[in-house]
Amino acid sequence: MPLQTARHNSPHFTGLAIRHLESLPRRDFVAGAALIDGRWIAGEQRDPVVDPATGEPIAEAARCSEADMNQAIAAAERSFAAWRELLPASRGAIIRSWASLMLEHLQELAILVTSEQGKPLAEARQEIAYGAGFLEWFAAEGERAYGETIPSHKPRSLLQVRMQPIGVAAAITPWNFPIAMITRKAGCALAAGCPIIVKPAPETPLCALALARLAEEAGVPRGVFQVLTGHPIELSAPLLRDARIRALSFTGSTEVGRLLLEGAADTIKKVSLELGGHAPFIIFDDVDLEKAVKGALAAKFATSGQDCLAANRIYVQGGIYKAFVEAFAAAIAELKVGHGLEPEVDIGPMTKLTVADKCRTQIDDALNKGARVFSAHRGAGLGPNFVPPTLLSDVTEGMLIAREETFGPVAAVLSFDSEEEVVARANANEMGLAGYVYTDSLRRALRLSEQIECGMLGINTASFTGPPIPFGGWKQSGLGREGSRHGLAEYMELKYVCFGDLEA
Ligand code: NAD
Repeated sequence: MPLQTARHNSPHFTGLAIRHLESLPRRDFVAGAALIDGRWIAGEQRDPVVDPATGEPIAEAARCSEADMNQAIAAAERSFAAWRELLPASRGAIIRSWASLMLEHLQELAILVTSEQGKPLAEARQEIAYGAGFLEWFAAEGERAYGETIPSHKPRSLLQVRMQPIGVAAAITPWNFPIAMITRKAGCALAAGCPIIVKPAPETPLCALALARLAEEAGVPRGVFQVLTGHPIELSAPLLRDARIRALSFTGSTEVGRLLLEGAADTIKKVSLELGGHAPFIIFDDVDLEKAVKGALAAKFATSGQDCLAANRIYVQGGIYKAFVEAFAAAIAELKVGHGLEPEVDIGPMTKLTVADKCRTQIDDALNKGARVFSAHRGAGLGPNFVPPTLLSDVTEGMLIAREETFGPVAAVLSFDSEEEVVARANANEMGLAGYVYTDSLRRALRLSEQIECGMLGINTASFTGPPIPFGGWKQSGLGREGSRHGLAEYMELKYVCFGDLEA
């Protein structure tokens, strides 16, 4: 089955990513070989890796087969006993040196991210540090899988609850954070004592394969961390079918998450899902306008809008609506669009043409239904994967953008009158990943922190993610949590042990 890759041959920026990749001291980072059972497999068949800004092929990656995946599962299963037997501190030391190697190679990894994913290099560098942070966090957290002792309800008995590694895990990861979404899952699985097999998004195989090189150098044993690139359905089928895969972690769209949950049902895997979002960003008219604009800009346009935490519906109270729209439009006009490898770019290309097309469809739909559009960047003509940062005002709940996740640099601004009304409108959506509230009233902030239906809420801040926080969503935004002390639970089983008859 051929992979669908964007090939649109934009004349702008031709050769830029290739030149950067050619300059990397680590040639093995661009070899595109999969890591299966301790061996680097170039693959009989290879798929192109494409620069999303230009549509140019910039490298190739192995197209692994179902048979390769079966081999990987067997190797992971073989590696499990020795890995789980290591003391948590010894596993932690290996995971920590993996993080150090990531930081040592930060610039090279960032170039890989920007070349195949498209985000600006400064953001790519932040992603490497963010991604290494999960390894550091879990290196330590693995030592804290305490379990508990329960005051006994039976005479002469001792009741214990232990946390034990669940077995072989699999991760299916997205292209928007091609490094951090792997380390957030793998760091946790490894710390819990579980081997993990990663199937990265076909758009961003190089990042995943470079991580595998560094994991091997850090001393992660054969079979414990494997990366197989190729076609999503072909490679996920054996993972779903095989009862030896005990945990499955996925980040991506709700549609695919639903399919994987169904597929995992036969073998009753422990499934954790980080899916789509549709974050409400609520601004009350008691706030400092400048702070609200700054927050909305960060929450909407980071990662060029391709972020599940992105502010999808910006609700602004009537009293400051007009002033907010003007100031927000002016701030958006300052954003620089271009190739992520150019200096000072804020907004890169969409990684996938389908995402850019979805943005355009939402803009057209909103215009047809009466929204007003502000975009200083129209006609930039950089190529089909580029979406100029756009503000849509006078958006109403009937428009597509108010109902569907955008995943691009298009900001929808809606007005509201009362607190009660905005809470009802914010919650009237099947997604519940993140939310944001800007207000100067402590009482209101406390009320809304209870009422907004989401897994993560920022009050007067657009920035709250990181290794210590439980990342995850309510409703159709997902199942389970990643990061934080709660993350380990996705890769561990509880075992209750009752010691009875303890009389001397
Ligand atoms: P997607 O869900 O199709 O892709 C995510 C991962 O799932 C990739 O590794 C992909 O190869 C894999 N995948 C796709 N179809 C599969 C299948 N049938 N079986 C097994 N694995 C499969 O996401 P997309 O189409 O690339 O992006 C579309 C939308 O998904 C975005 O617009 C956004 O709404 C959402 N998304 C969310 C996140 C997130 O961080 N939560 C990340 C990426 C995409």
